[in-house]
Amino acid sequence: MPKQEKYSHRQVIEKLGSMCAVCKCRDIQILQVDHPLGNGNVERRMKGQQQAIYRRIMEGHHLRYRCLCASCNWRNRIKTDEGGRPARQVTEQSMSEFLSVVKLHLERLLN
Ligand SMILES: [Zn+2]
Repeated sequence: MPKQEKYSHRQVIEKLGSMCAVCKCRDIQILQVDHPLGNGNVERRMKGQQQAIYRRIMEGHHLRYRCLCASCNWRNRIKTDEGGRPARQVTEQSMSEFLSVVKLHLERLLN
């Protein structure tokens, strides 16, 4: 069986638009994959799941994910912990931020 391709952090971040969905920071060194529409926290905790997530993103499921910088990512997690909720909610604002990143990404592809 052929070895499956391994994707790098940089490839995945570029696929997601190379920009923090919240503060628009473009420092690739601190950009991380976030999962605005579902159980990203659960996926992240599973060992060995990182490549599986990377592969899903690179193979066309990138609209379910977004980039966050380390700072915004931590802020989100802290909010979740303090509120005691199992997962961050998708708000109108977070969705429109996410869509604006997608839009930028598409514009870059078309230009
Ligand atoms: Zn940020």
